Amino acid sequence: MPDACDVCGQDYSKVDSGDGPAVFIILIVGAIVAGLAVWTEFTYSPPYWVQLTIWIPTILILSVGLLRPAKALLIALQFKHKASSDIKRY
Ligand SMILES: [Zn+2]
Repeated sequence: MPDACDVCGQDYSKVDSGDGPAVFIILIVGAIVAGLAVWTEFTYSPPYWVQLTIWIPTILILSVGLLRPAKALLIALQFKHKASSDIKRY
């Protein structure tokens, strides 16, 4: 990532979403997929290979697909609320 925006000069040096996007995606996608997998099991009782064939690609697509929007959202919220990551860490 560049140090500043090429257009407006916005300082990017304090941009840091850390593990936030991944944590939210783990929790949200995990809840959705686990709920749907349990519902599918109790409703249709498919063989396990069917469950794996459905949910492994779903997990990969949702997780990878949501990572960039989630990171953008958290960075936008960081700017909006003037939260900075320049707090000293020990
Ligand atoms: Zn800009």
